[in-house]
Amino acid sequence: MAELEGLEFGKSDFVLLDEVTMEQFMENLKLRFEKGRIYTYIGEVVVSVNPYRQMDIYGKDNIEAYRGRELYENPPHLYAVSDAAYKAMKRRAKDTCIVISGESGAGKTEASKYIMQYIAAITNPSQRAEVESVKNVLLKSNCVLEAFGNAKTNRNDNSSRFGKYMDINFNFNGDPTGGHINNYLLEKSRVVHQQGGERNFHSFYQVNCSLHFCSAHLFYFAFLFDLFAFQTSNNDRSSHKAVLSALEVIGFSKEEITSVYQILATILLLGNMQFESDGESVNIVGQEVVNHISELTATDPESVNKSLLYRTVATGGGEVIEKGHTEQDACFGRDAFAKALYERLFGWIVSRINSIIEVKDYDPVLHGKNTVIGVLDIYGFEIFDNNSFEQFCINYCNEKLQQLFIELILRQEQDEYQREGITWQHIEYFNNQIIVDLVEQAHKGIISILDEACLTVGKVTDTVCLDSMDTKLAQHPHYTSRKLSPTDKSMDFQKHFRIRHYAGDVTYSVEGFLDKNKDLLFQDFKRLMYNSANPVLKEMWPDGHLSITEVTKRPLTAATLFKNSIVALVDKLACKEPYYVRCIKPNEMKSPVLFDDARCQHQVAYLGLLENVRVRRAGFAYRQLYARFLQRYKMTCEYTWPNHLMASDREAVEAIVIQHGFQDDVAYGQTKLFVRTPRSLFTLEQERNHL
Ligand code: ATP
Ligand code: MG
Repeated sequence: MAELEGLEFGKSDFVLLDEVTMEQFMENLKLRFEKGRIYTYIGEVVVSVNPYRQMDIYGKDNIEAYRGRELYENPPHLYAVSDAAYKAMKRRAKDTCIVISGESGAGKTEASKYIMQYIAAITNPSQRAEVESVKNVLLKSNCVLEAFGNAKTNRNDNSSRFGKYMDINFNFNGDPTGGHINNYLLEKSRVVHQQGGERNFHSFYQVNCSLHFCSAHLFYFAFLFDLFAFQTSNNDRSSHKAVLSALEVIGFSKEEITSVYQILATILLLGNMQFESDGESVNIVGQEVVNHISELTATDPESVNKSLLYRTVATGGGEVIEKGHTEQDACFGRDAFAKALYERLFGWIVSRINSIIEVKDYDPVLHGKNTVIGVLDIYGFEIFDNNSFEQFCINYCNEKLQQLFIELILRQEQDEYQREGITWQHIEYFNNQIIVDLVEQAHKGIISILDEACLTVGKVTDTVCLDSMDTKLAQHPHYTSRKLSPTDKSMDFQKHFRIRHYAGDVTYSVEGFLDKNKDLLFQDFKRLMYNSANPVLKEMWPDGHLSITEVTKRPLTAATLFKNSIVALVDKLACKEPYYVRCIKPNEMKSPVLFDDARCQHQVAYLGLLENVRVRRAGFAYRQLYARFLQRYKMTCEYTWPNHLMASDREAVEAIVIQHGFQDDVAYGQTKLFVRTPRSLFTLEQERNHL
């Protein structure tokens, strides 16, 4: 429980609510937001409301105030959990992680940056050069990843379009020695198409500043929805400078940086490529664009031409033939190529950064245990008007994280009770395993059904696949098909299915599911890139060395790849001591003064915050080390003020408890006092304030 700041700011920990009801929760959240208190605890969990204005709470003074302190000694803050995670890592040699969740625009990425800045600020007091350089690379990597992985959306001007998990490694001194970044499901469809009002990834608007790499002079890019995109804004120009300098600081070579911008330009040129058909064959309109692409990718124009217009296929008899594309196939191929180029570029940038910051030559015998703090900044639950494959994946990921959250929070409580020798009582909570199974179970789950449809030879359409899901999942309590509830006019018979997620019902449109899951890219493009004379580009396409007859194994589908990466992530998080930041977006207008009750309440509900408070309070709302408790309340009891003469702090604490008459409301652990209801504590706090 945080130190009480005075009740005019509301309660700094939700466990102190008189009753755990939505009304009381919302009232407290709103009051604190209006008073500029954007952080509130639920035990050790930080609930954060995006202030949409610069807050004067992140400066050097604040860092000092939180450094090495306990959670309850200061008002709630990200710095306090960062410090708690850091202390656990340093003092108890625990691997820890900070999981940040919330919907788009709720402030996850900003929070992750403050956390990293805090950790950077409190480490390496002796300013050792190699540690400074590691810190610098870690901090600069944010700038690069944001340029390539973020975009303006209708919900957030700087929306992360990928999930990110970053491990920071520490030596026995508690100084950073390196790190590792994992990225999840980049929204690559954005490369070729954006919704009205949205933009492509920031990086594309920065290419214009670098277009001297190419002799092309283009003023209009089809992939940049905004017609005036060529008029690079000042903002883009200054970001470009920052990104270039960050790439240099991190250690990218000149050749690598040039290649990055050449690839971006290639993608933009692909967007401008058009095809025409004369009835017999399909051709590219205007040879110039092909020449530019071949120049930028260090490939020969004839091969570029061919890979865009033909695909090599192996016949049953082992013969290899070239099959001309239809105009439609050519467009599909071009777009798939553009998306894959970007995805591989992004993946390559991440792995380049990793190779630079990975901990090298670490000898645990010589250097002590190498401990880790992980920071997870990943997309929150999404319900849009039209929910597609991406939302399906993202929401599945949130089911997995929610499950981990409940498990870990319960486990943490249980562990503490055991450690302290206090009887554990079972807590009822909704276990979402059933929804996780609906999605991921082998043979029966949605992903399996999708994969099966993708593997079936012949014409399997999205609708056929939906039929198969409807049949196989009809009995599942969290799955609804229109066939089962024909009266539900909000669903279309041909394309919709609905999942009852822990966070709410989401209706998905199955349109495009199969294509997105197959994620087909003709082998011809891979070979084209592998044969590039540019070694950087070649490195991104190692699978291009296979000839068509060698490509026998079907690649894993997008959903399965995603599932595997999320399962691995959850395994990684599960063995760490978790800290949570739950972000809430106060309104849709980016306003610093508007608290939209309905929107906030919805988020509180699906983040499971009330449940969290209940779990936290189910046993004991509050616990404190005897010595600390004594320090804070000894003035409220005649036997302990100014000093007690008892045999132990524990006995002195007993004296305080008895004097105030709440002996039935507490349990005595090995090192801590446990208090069941917050009311007892209020009595003490009030007494303390009146003295
Ligand atoms: P997405 O899922 O789309 O990536 P997000 O949760 O990462 O969203 P952010 O990009 O962190 O959201 O925040 C959106 C915007 O809100 C920021 O660009 C900033 O303007 C504002 N904001 C968020 N947190 C803070 C803060 N602590 N102080 C001031 N402004 C903030
Ligand atoms: Mg973000």
